[in-house]
Amino acid sequence: MSVVEIRGIKKHFGDVRAVDGVDLSVHKGELLVLLGPSGCGKTTLLRMIAGLEQPTGGDILIGDEVVTNLPPRARHIAMVFQSYALYPHMTVFDNIAFPLKARGIPKEERRAKVENAAGLLAIESLLHRKPRQLSGGQRQRVALARAMVRSPRVMLLDEPLSNLDAQQRASARDELQQFQRQMGITTIFVTHDQIEAMGLGDRIVVMHDGQMRQVGTPQEVYYDSADTFVATFLGSPGINLVHRADYILGFRPEHFLPKDVLAADEEKCVSFTYDVTRIEYLGADRLLYGNLVGIPSDVKTMSRLPTTVPVTVEAGQQYEFVIREQDLRFFDHTTGKRTAPREIGE
Ligand code: ATP
Repeated sequence: MSVVEIRGIKKHFGDVRAVDGVDLSVHKGELLVLLGPSGCGKTTLLRMIAGLEQPTGGDILIGDEVVTNLPPRARHIAMVFQSYALYPHMTVFDNIAFPLKARGIPKEERRAKVENAAGLLAIESLLHRKPRQLSGGQRQRVALARAMVRSPRVMLLDEPLSNLDAQQRASARDELQQFQRQMGITTIFVTHDQIEAMGLGDRIVVMHDGQMRQVGTPQEVYYDSADTFVATFLGSPGINLVHRADYILGFRPEHFLPKDVLAADEEKCVSFTYDVTRIEYLGADRLLYGNLVGIPSDVKTMSRLPTTVPVTVEAGQQYEFVIREQDLRFFDHTTGKRTAPREIGE
């Protein structure tokens, strides 16, 4: 069942097509991530769902009701911004209670809801503090508590973790996911960080230039990318793209391995002579940069080789590297879209 239905939604600012015809169904209880580079239109799409931006065309339905022309407060959604937008002069308790007070909820009921939310997010001991006396992660939890006390139909999150350092982000991601699952609130989460998207999303919408390139589970968008944009945007390093006469061959660095490593495998492989030019040691993995002998290319072909694989590789040497046929991807030369597999000629 879909909770949010987006039909042909558009937002043009003069000549800028910020969002240019997006169709999307958000399922009940799922955590859907809108992912894409800066300027691809993800915040504008989120703001249109929230009612903070009026679409140029198309419709938005929340729970089967067309809300396209309704103001934000009539949509029963909650939004958490990057800045959290907490009121600095109010205590944590009053910040969380604020939306309930604004709706005229009686005092006792307010207290019960705030305490319940604070309990779920483990911030009971912080209720008397002011926002400036909190860490970034604690502020995020307060903003989430304030969003959830309203029992929204949908929670909209715009890069809520971007103020946290790398370590805090990992634990905040974990907390957010647990909280979202526990509450079962349908959630739309905006980020430009593909690792965050892959780790957090039940499904990911990859956007580019105001359009939706692909929607799918993290596994689908990563392993079965719909086009070269999605394939390159996901993964670090991204997919290798080798331009042949009339198609583009794609394979992920972790699938491009020395022949000896895959030799025991029954599956069919294609093989290349790989001229390794540079090696980076990353601890768990070795990142290899090099060229495919006989196939000119402007960019290096990369291999990600776990250090636990006991093979010696040195820069300046050539090796036989292989890819399982099942891990090869083919893309159209002109459109960049995924195409059917084909025979690889020399
Ligand atoms: P970021 O990750 O940088 O926030 P984004 O993917 O969220 O990017 P949007 O903020 O939705 O992108 O912007 C999409 C495009 O629309 C951009 O080219 C932006 O400059 C443009 N845009 C957004 N808001 C306005 C506005 N009020 N007036 C004119 N152009 C705008």
